[in-house]
Amino acid sequence: MKVLALAAALACALTAPSLAGCPPEALGVSRTLPVGTVGGGAVGFKTYPQTLRLAPGEVVLTFDDGPMPGRTEKILDALSSQCVKATFFMIGRNAAAAPALAARVAKEGHTVAYHSMTHPVLRRLPFERARADIVSGYRAVDKAVWGAASERPHQPFFRFPGFADSPALDQWLASLDMVVFGADLWASDWEPETPQEELKLVLGRLEKNKGGIVLLHDIQPRTVAMLPQFLQELKMRGFRIVHMVPGPGALETTPAPAGWFSQTERILAGQGRPVGKVRRPLSQ
Ligand SMILES: [Zn+2]
Repeated sequence: MKVLALAAALACALTAPSLAGCPPEALGVSRTLPVGTVGGGAVGFKTYPQTLRLAPGEVVLTFDDGPMPGRTEKILDALSSQCVKATFFMIGRNAAAAPALAARVAKEGHTVAYHSMTHPVLRRLPFERARADIVSGYRAVDKAVWGAASERPHQPFFRFPGFADSPALDQWLASLDMVVFGADLWASDWEPETPQEELKLVLGRLEKNKGGIVLLHDIQPRTVAMLPQFLQELKMRGFRIVHMVPGPGALETTPAPAGWFSQTERILAGQGRPVGKVRRPLSQ
């Protein structure tokens, strides 16, 4: 009986957001999702015809372009106060400029991922230059976060700046067993919107999509400003946070519904409705 009681207590402690001093009303993490990366692959309906296997109402939070002193700390504080774990797609030169902050992201249990060294539109570069930018990016992040870098990346998750991948780069990343992340929705936080406008927009999109992989930017002051309320709203509306981590085996996905098209390809090609009035590459 004692063993059973202990097992039950452990199971409860592992799932309850109140662990580590969090209040019971905290949003917390509902489950950890191991993402298999053997052989690579790509997810996120904005770009690819498949995404992670998420149930309706499940949300994966991702933050791009950091770390940035003065902003990323506030993002981390907001996440910590709600016992939420996210994934940070870091720019190498930003991690090199703020190594303690980059390391803090990992120390607090978030997933570290890569987003190139200098944030170029990689598909427009010659392959070798693009590859060199990605390699120096993950090496800079690895050095900042773990104190050492090797030829192979420490983590198997990558997101292209502006979602501008290419078949050759995708193939090379797959050969490194790296998964490429698009997004299922975004907050358009590169637009000149107020924090309240951003909040309303992203919540509306989440309701419509019934959750998914959300793209935010920890370098954007409006996202810093709206995040505490956003997390509270997620809790009140019954959304559940999924923390993705690298896992064994191959990537498992859910296919897109009929009628899917790559919204980011249309944007990159200058066709279709642009995301607001943005003229620079997405995800800056
Ligand atoms: Zn970006």
